[in-house]
Amino acid sequence: MNIEFYNKLAPLLLKYDARLITVTKTQSIEAIQKVYDFGLRIYGENRVQELCDKQELLPKDIEWHLIGHLQTNKVKYIAPFIACIHSVDSWKLLEEINKHASANNRIIKCLLQCYIASEETKFGLSKDELVEILQHKNLKDLKNIELVGLMGMATNTEDEKQVKNEFLSLKKLFDEIKATYFESQTSFKEISMGMSSDYELALSCGSTMLRIGSKMF
Ligand SMILES: *Cc1c(COP(=O)(O)O)cnc(C)c1O
Repeated sequence: MNIEFYNKLAPLLLKYDARLITVTKTQSIEAIQKVYDFGLRIYGENRVQELCDKQELLPKDIEWHLIGHLQTNKVKYIAPFIACIHSVDSWKLLEEINKHASANNRIIKCLLQCYIASEETKFGLSKDELVEILQHKNLKDLKNIELVGLMGMATNTEDEKQVKNEFLSLKKLFDEIKATYFESQTSFKEISMGMSSDYELALSCGSTMLRIGSKMF
C-alpha cells in the first residue's frame, strides 16, 4: 500500500466530504490485506469472478463495490454481499438486482452509470435513457434497491480541459436529476467520478466517491 499517497489524499477527502473506494482489481490478497490492516474498508472491483474470489478470502466486514460492467446473469453471484453497484446501465439490470437483493433479504445501493466521455467504448446511459429509467412506472416497486447517485468515467486523455468538461457535465446532470426526481430524498447524493489520474480534478468538480486503484498500491 502507498501510505504516502493516502496521507496526501486523506485531507482532500475531508475537505470535499468525499469517500475513497480503493480499487483492488489485479492486486494480490496480501497487498489488499495491508490496506485492510491500515484500516480502510471500502473496496471496488470491476469483474464479478475476481470480486467473488476475493470476497471469500478476505475479512467479512469489507464493504464491496462493483465498479465494472455487470451482466444480468451474474447478479446472483454478488447479491448476497455486494454493498453498492456503480455500473447500472439498464432498466433490465436494475430489475434483476432488485430481484436478487429481495431473495437475499437485502437492499443494494445502486448508481446509474452515465455516458460522459467521447470514447465509443465506454458503457453508460445517455441522458434520455437515464430519464427513461427514472420515469419508469414500476421504479417505485423496486423495494430492494436504493438509487444513491450517478457514476461516470471521463475520456482517457491528457487533455485536462476535456476531462474537466466531462466531470462538470456529470455534476450538472446530477443536479438536474436530483432536483427533478429526488428533491426530498437525502440518500440520492453520490457522484462517483475520479481515478488515479484525475481525482483532484474530480473532487473540484463535485465528486463524492473516488475510485482509485494504481496510486493506492
Ligand atoms: C480500474 C478502475 C478504476 C481505477 O483506476 P486507476 O487508474 O487504477 O485508479 C476506477 N474505475 C473503474 C471503473 C475501473 O475499472
